[in-house]
Amino acid sequence: MFQNDSLDLAPAVAPLRYSSSLKRLYVKDKTVIPFLLKVMSYAPYVDENLYVRAQLQFSDRQYLQDIVSRCPNHTTPDHPTNICFPNPEHVVRADGLEEVEYLNDGAKAVRFKFSIPLTGSSHGYARLRFMCPNSCPGGMNRRSTDLIFILLNSR
Ligand SMILES: [Zn+2]
Repeated sequence: MFQNDSLDLAPAVAPLRYSSSLKRLYVKDKTVIPFLLKVMSYAPYVDENLYVRAQLQFSDRQYLQDIVSRCPNHTTPDHPTNICFPNPEHVVRADGLEEVEYLNDGAKAVRFKFSIPLTGSSHGYARLRFMCPNSCPGGMNRRSTDLIFILLNSR
């Protein structure tokens, strides 16, 4: 699992801002967000079978049981963002990653191959998009969310 201090965001580029004092990311929906993911203790023998699960959860304890999903307006099949995309209810989408799967196992998560560009390195990259603004009625409804990354050694 990644720790908070092991997740760095690439240099801020509009429309994307990160406040280190607030520890909050401000991003326009559908913007591709580049993440640098670092593994704190690296076991080189498993680097061919590493996957990352990324999922949103509500920050506020009273909403932890609620599944974070897109709002009804943005999940309609004819919405332009859902053309040829079979998982319109997922807020987080992977962009240009390998072996991507969208999961519905009690949370709406995306799992992808954790590609480490250099052998022996301890970091890789992920490119993700949030498909609804936080303010969507019937979706996140202005509730704060946390993006959780979990490192997996198998699918
Ligand atoms: Zn929405």
